[in-house]
Parts: sequence; C-alpha cells; structure tokens
Amino acid sequence: MDVSFSTEESAFREEVRAFLKQAWTPELAARVDADATHPQAIVEWQRRLFERGWAAPGWPKQHGGCEWTPTQRYIYDVERSAVGAATTLPFGLTMVGPVIIKYGNAEQQQRFLPRILRAQDWWCQGYSEPGAGSDLAALKTRAELAGSDYIVNGSKIWTTYAQHADWMFCLVRTESSARRQDGISFLLIDMKAPGIRISPIISIDGEHSLNEVFFDNVRVPVTNRVGEQDKGWTYAKSLLQHERTAIAGVGDSKRKVQRIRELARRETSAGQPLLDDPVFAARLADIEIELMALEFTELRALWQAAKGQGPGAESSLLKIKGTQIQQALQQLMMDMAGSFGAVLPGDAASGHDFADEARRSFMYGRASSIYGGSNEVQKNITAKAVLGL
Ligand SMILES: Cc1cc2nc3c(=O)[nH]c(=O)nc-3n(C[C@H](O)[C@H](O)[C@H](O)COP(=O)(O)OP(=O)(O)OC[C@H]3O[C@@H](n4cnc5c(N)ncnc54)[C@H](O)[C@@H]3O)c2cc1C
Repeated sequence: MDVSFSTEESAFREEVRAFLKQAWTPELAARVDADATHPQAIVEWQRRLFERGWAAPGWPKQHGGCEWTPTQRYIYDVERSAVGAATTLPFGLTMVGPVIIKYGNAEQQQRFLPRILRAQDWWCQGYSEPGAGSDLAALKTRAELAGSDYIVNGSKIWTTYAQHADWMFCLVRTESSARRQDGISFLLIDMKAPGIRISPIISIDGEHSLNEVFFDNVRVPVTNRVGEQDKGWTYAKSLLQHERTAIAGVGDSKRKVQRIRELARRETSAGQPLLDDPVFAARLADIEIELMALEFTELRALWQAAKGQGPGAESSLLKIKGTQIQQALQQLMMDMAGSFGAVLPGDAASGHDFADEARRSFMYGRASSIYGGSNEVQKNITAKAVLGL
C-alpha cells in the first residue's frame, strides 16, 4: 500500500529502520525461529524494545508506554514485519496490561506494569474451561471469600505457556445466583501458589504450548482482584477486544506474502517459475487484495481507537478476516511444498528446505480460527453488534 507521510513521520520511519537494523540481529532472529515453544529470545527482544522506550506502543506515557499515533504504530508494524522482527508476547503487554491500566488500582499499577514492560513476569490467560470456551460465561472455577483471601477451586484449559508463567489473569465465579455474567471476578494469580498443578497438552504440530491448570484450594489475596467483585465480565470483554485486534496479524501476513513470492520465483512447475503459473499467481493476488482491504480496515480501527472509541466489536471483523488470510497463505505454502509437506521431522525425506516451515505454520495455524474466540462466534458478534441483525 502506498501511504504518504509528513516530514515528522518520515523521520520516525528512519528512526525505526535504524533501530531494527541494530537491534534485530540475525543471531536473535535465528534463536526466535528455533525456539518456538519457549520464546526466551522473544523476552530478550522485548527488553531491547523496552530499553529503546518502545515496549508498549498503545500504553499511555504515564505508565511507560509510547502513546504512538495510529500512523506511528502502522509505520512500526510495516517496518518490523518487513525485516521479519518478532512481535512481543501478548499476554502482558496487549492483554492484562491495558486492563490493569484501565481498571486496576494505583498499587496494582505500580506493582505489575513496570515488570510487564521489562518482560520480568511471564503471564498466561486463564479464561477457558472444559465446557466454557465459546460460552465463557458458563465458567465454574470458584473463588470463595475467606478473610483477606479467596480460595480458588476448579480448572482451566488451553492455557498457553502456563508452564512458563509467573502469573495468570483468571476469570473466576464469585456469585452463582446472579445472571451468569454478573457473578464473575478478575483475579491475578501467582502461579507459584500452593495447590496449582499444570498438565501439558501436546498440539497437532507436536509442540507443547498448551496446558490444563488445576486449582486445589489455592489462596489468592483479595488485593489481587482487579476492579470490583462480580464485575469481571466487563474487564474480560475489553481485554478480548484488544486480543482480537492483535490476532489480525497484518504485518506478518505481508511478510509471508513476500516469502511465498520469493519461493515461487525459485520453485518451478512444468519447467517455468511457479510465479508465472497463472493459477498460482491468481491465488496469490486474491490473497494480497484481501490483505490490502484488511490493512485499510485495521487503520480505520486504529484511528477510531486514537479518538477514544474502541476497539469495539469491529475487532471481531479484523480477527475473522485476519485469520482467514493467514490460513489461506499457510495453505498456499503447503501446496507449494507438495508431498514434502506431509513428511514429519526425522523421516528420511525430511529436510526439504521450506517444507518444515510450511508444515509447522500450517499445523499450528489451524488454531487461529479457534483461539481468541472462534470465528463462528465472531460472526455472531458481528451480526449482532456491527450489523444490528
Ligand atoms: C492454540 C490455542 C491457544 C489457546 N490459548 C488459550 C489461552 O491461553 N487461554 C484461554 O483461556 N483459552 C485459550 N484457548 C481457548 C480458546 O479461547 C477456545 O478454544 C475457544 O474460545 C473455543 O472454545 P472451545 O474450544 O471450548 O470450543 P466450543 O465453544 O466447544 O466450540 C466448538 C465448536 O462449536 C462452535 N460454536 C460454539 N458456539 C457456537 C455458536 N453460538 N454459534 C456458532 N458456532 C458455535 C465453535 O465455533 C467451534 O467450532 C486457546 C485455544 C487454542 C486452540
């Protein structure tokens, strides 16, 4: 997309380019790529961003954020994805951080926000439960008040990176007799507290990022509750909207288009470069057009957010379209790998230079239309809240 920038914005773009050139080194890129399930290297990357003052583009300056304009955020993301630099871990910076800023008290802000910025604490998200995924308000994990603590019992599922987490932001039921959404509270739980047990779930790509987490009489100080008791649903929803906007992943899809284009110049079909094959070229062009439209929609959403509106239910649109595009690109790359895409690591025929990359992202990529709220449910939200149906 061709966007013209003011003098200040062009100067900012040069600053971003210079920073990325010096901070996103090939050595760091290789480590991020190699260690997908324990991204210690991403923590290191976040610390480099923090030192530059750029860890939290959307946070207010008062809390150590950049307060970038939508154009600055757009410029950063375009430049970041152009060099393939990683995004930061979302659980602290994009998810619980904004909730603590908006609904937490001063003590919670002082205690947690600086550590999130510096990536000193690893956070995980305790929302989903068996029987409470799409229908999140059905959650049953209980927290009962006992003096200055809550006693938490129950379990969470699909908890990404719980095995590395220092803290979990968690939805618990504190009242059963009210309307389901009215009896939920938002707790910050120390993952080292006695009574917490983590059990791994291995996903279709063979990796361990997912977990079940069990709570057996876990004591959580009342001071770790964000906002009011029984009002957690409101806070949980605002977090989900931030999460869905982030999942759209425009910058990374643009990078993937470039990667596929490079490969398609090199790979051949019937003796000519794949990129010259009209069917292949049309498939790639279709995806690029959709991606360009998504980019405009995201920019509109960013401008609205800058005016203090949102992100609202429109974040569901971004999530649906963004993940459809990601999956279409993953499918295209898998098709390019052909039969090599079906070969597992360690098999005699493995080692085809981009088939491992294609298969890894294709397998894990099935999840993007499920996590952050499934795409079917996002369509329901869009129908109701955006289209008024
Ligand atoms: C890789 C991955 C990482 C995740 N990480 C986390 C995490 O860190 N923390 C966390 O709390 N959760 C996490 N989740 C859970 C995720 O949020 C849920 O899987 C998701 O909300 C769907 O819930 P469910 O799995 O219970 O499916 P269900 O709600 O049982 O849905 C099953 C199917 O029915 C469809 N469906 C359900 N209700 C409706 C409806 N009303 N209308 C139309 N269709 C419907 C769904 O679209 C889906 O296809 C993760 C999930 C994945 C796959």
